[in-house]
Amino acid sequence: MKGMMVLERKINKLFRDFGIVAYCGERFEYSNSVVSFTPYFWDRLSRAHCEYIDKTFGIDVRSSYFTFCILHEIGHHYTLRNFTEEEIDNEIIIRKLLSFCEKDPKEINNAYFNLPIEEEATKWALEYMVNHVSWVNRVNRLCCDALRHYFKVNGWG
Ligand SMILES: [Zn+2]
Repeated sequence: MKGMMVLERKINKLFRDFGIVAYCGERFEYSNSVVSFTPYFWDRLSRAHCEYIDKTFGIDVRSSYFTFCILHEIGHHYTLRNFTEEEIDNEIIIRKLLSFCEKDPKEINNAYFNLPIEEEATKWALEYMVNHVSWVNRVNRLCCDALRHYFKVNGWG
């Protein structure tokens, strides 16, 4: 995909102080100091996720959703150490079960976000955002530009 290197370079530069490496993948994910992010992030479930955050924590992340999602993954980087190996393994099993569950996707998503490890990462991200408003605004703007560039060079915008 064209523009991917540019996008990755920009995102890595913006988030370099967190001690993580970011790469452009198919979803938002964290593993061993590596965060993957995706440019395709605004869909029905993201909207539902924003509603859930607003309802649960009283914070509107709609205009910062991409930044929030990366910060959530970075949140895993800082909060996973609060959990035991057993707790992490249990959550992996619950995640698998949820992925086979045939309920309403919105409900499954909410159950997923309620998992303690997920909730910790979300709380970390929200706290960071609340305490670094001008940084978040700057990063939002630069992320938007980087994404717009990515879509443009691929002929989608
Ligand atoms: Zn997560």
